[in-house]
Amino acid sequence: MNASEKLFEARALSAFYGRVHALKPTTVWVGEGEFVTVLGPNGAGKSTMLRAMTRLTPATGRVYFRGRDITGLATHERAREGVIMVQEGRGLFGQMSVRENLILGAYTMTGSDTAEQRLESVFALFPRLKERYEQVAASLSGGEQQMLAIGRALMARPKLLMLDEPSLGLAPRVASEILETLGRLNGEGLGILLVEQKAPQALKLAKRVYVLSLGAVVAELPAAEIKSHHELSRYYLH
Ligand code: ATP
Repeated sequence: MNASEKLFEARALSAFYGRVHALKPTTVWVGEGEFVTVLGPNGAGKSTMLRAMTRLTPATGRVYFRGRDITGLATHERAREGVIMVQEGRGLFGQMSVRENLILGAYTMTGSDTAEQRLESVFALFPRLKERYEQVAASLSGGEQQMLAIGRALMARPKLLMLDEPSLGLAPRVASEILETLGRLNGEGLGILLVEQKAPQALKLAKRVYVLSLGAVVAELPAAEIKSHHELSRYYLH
């Protein structure tokens, strides 16, 4: 794939915490409208990679969006380009209402539609959020909070949505509902970079997979090939 067909690419991205080299020079890309899943055990550097991509963590290396070098852009400027991350732990404002949390997601607003129109499209995707419109975020269930975190990210009209273990701590049925929704969004053309620890469903949705271990990419392959890869399938599909 040449550079112009890539939605997003991080080249030789590398990050330290003090003397800990948490992310060794890593190259990862997402094609236009592609669904990419990043797998890896605890401490592999998955969160660090997403945080480095959005510049929430300082890193070296270069970052490109639709072929343009955006390395110099701050987190909010990358967000304005359409690179949006849903953080692990969700980062919601617990004492603010569902509506207020969603409206905050539209702070980078560009484009002609209004915040109200965006709210309606989020509610169409997650009707449960509409029912809980005035409720404070802290009073939502874990699954609803994850829906709210994703809804808030969608308010910014992302072109690439990055998610850090959205199914963490959720009942399997709720996790499955959330991943299905990601599949639907991808079907509408949204590029997705999903980090999961262990997730057969995340693999079904993905077109391509990266496996991270000890801060480095140890495998990159089409998701469909995981099945025929003995070590990986044993670890990630069962
Ligand atoms: P998990 O699945 O448990 O979230 P991960 O693959 O996302 O793991 P990271 O959270 O990126 O892994 O952590 C990678 C390494 O960097 C780990 O060794 C971790 O202990 C270390 N690390 C992460 N955050 C910090 C920090 N703020 N300060 C120091 N070390 C950190």
